[in-house]
Amino acid sequence: MTHFIFVTGGVVSSLGKGISAASVAALLEARGLSVTMVKMDPYINVDPGTMSPFQHGEVFVTEDGAETDLDLGYYERFLRRAKMTKLNNFTSGRVYQDVLNKERRGDYLGGTVQVIPHITDNIKERVLRAGEGYDVAIVEIGGTVGDIESLPFMESVRQLMVELGHKRSMLMHLTLLPYISSAAELKTKPTQHSVKELLSIGIQPDILICRTEHDVDADTTRKIALFTNVEARAVVVCKDAKTIYQIPRNFYEQNVDDLICERFGYNDLPEADLSDWDQVCEALFNPEYTVRVAMVGKYVELPDAYKSVNEALLHAGIQNRVKVQIDYVDAQALESQDIAILDTADAILVPGGFGERGTEGKMAAIRYAREKGIPFLGICLGMQLAVIEYARHVAQMPEASSTEFNRSTKYPLIGLITEWLDERGELQQRNVESDLGGTMRLGAQKSELVAGTKTREVYGKAEITERHRHRYEMNDRFIEPLEKAGMLVSGYSAVQHLVETVEIPAHPWFIAVQFHPEFTSSPRDGHPLFASFIDAAKKQNQKGK
Ligand code: GLN
Repeated sequence: MTHFIFVTGGVVSSLGKGISAASVAALLEARGLSVTMVKMDPYINVDPGTMSPFQHGEVFVTEDGAETDLDLGYYERFLRRAKMTKLNNFTSGRVYQDVLNKERRGDYLGGTVQVIPHITDNIKERVLRAGEGYDVAIVEIGGTVGDIESLPFMESVRQLMVELGHKRSMLMHLTLLPYISSAAELKTKPTQHSVKELLSIGIQPDILICRTEHDVDADTTRKIALFTNVEARAVVVCKDAKTIYQIPRNFYEQNVDDLICERFGYNDLPEADLSDWDQVCEALFNPEYTVRVAMVGKYVELPDAYKSVNEALLHAGIQNRVKVQIDYVDAQALESQDIAILDTADAILVPGGFGERGTEGKMAAIRYAREKGIPFLGICLGMQLAVIEYARHVAQMPEASSTEFNRSTKYPLIGLITEWLDERGELQQRNVESDLGGTMRLGAQKSELVAGTKTREVYGKAEITERHRHRYEMNDRFIEPLEKAGMLVSGYSAVQHLVETVEIPAHPWFIAVQFHPEFTSSPRDGHPLFASFIDAAKKQNQKGK
């Protein structure tokens, strides 16, 4: 039987609801429970797939190919036993689309379709379905209490809590304790107000997570408890941490897990074992030295756009006992700058992206890494550009390009699979639907790594599974000329035999991949590709000494 913990936020956004929710999940998992997580987003987009990273940060891709909110990335990084799926993130838009489709089909038999009960029922069904098979489901509501958009979600949660009952449901509310420096005081009033807001929609919180930059004394927590009807021991202080990976321990020290287990009747569980989280923090706090990675991309002002890549680099730093400093380099600006600004980098990374803007700058960076022997990792668009750069400057295909930016190029090294298979009349043989042209290759797929390659050595196995999110593919009629010129295809997708990974054997460390390895890296387990990349950065750094 699944138990549900609903998570809401008050006062202001960006309090780290996702991270707090994920930390509670990690703590419960450390007690031996199976835990899953759900994010409900109040906006109208059907999914974040079409939203600009500028607005919404990265789009996180699940194993089953759902394009989701970046909070799901936190969920997977904090959990070991559960993988997120299509069921774990949905928006108002998705719910309305579903209800409206049913209305058009006549499923409501002429009845009036309303927010309550039709929209709320749809939300409740989704929550219950996502929780099936787990001991605990932690369900986060996007936005802040009081937002008009989130009301149907709040109402659904209220109803679910009544239906599930006290022993199977809890609500955890995140709030802010602002510090007023002139009075040298932490203020509890905004917390009182946001709890009142919750009460006005019929929800009494069971746990308060109070975000603060300062220490909070027992008098303050007692006062908050008194005004909000929450037990004093359930007023949890979450002071800004040096790393988010400390938060599971922080919650453990305030007995958050006991509180939850007691309520849900889990009376005979072992103590939480947090030693692996302690090791993560220990490594983060004691790096041997710093390596610098230049990340050449388009959304450099907004690091959330590359959240999972940043995290994967951090994890690789943990494994290599170094601090990874990421220097964001604006690809477009690089086009008119002296490329030698990349000289301070111990490694260069070109992440995924869409559209032409900045691609010449990215290729200039790739060329620099290639010619100077600087470790290079290319991801998705980063791989496509690495291939094009090599074709242009080494394999004598000067106008090589991708049909994403140049439809009339003589050397379409990168194109839609339908374009280049059709050109040879091979569409049928290759297991590709002809309408696949415009859609994305999404989610986890198997690839086979070629024996004797560095890529295979790095992974330490022949078959890997990685997640995809792209439309364009390398046209395999160019494999031969590229390989002759010294760039090797080191991996192919298992089903369609598409190019997945390339490398330059003559270079100290140059690997580029069509998939997104960053989505499967985690603080405790890292990722082999990033670990090896940062190891190469370390060697580069020591060479310079
Ligand atoms: N724009 C490229 C494509 O669609 C790469 C996408 C990406 O980097 N995620 O294939």
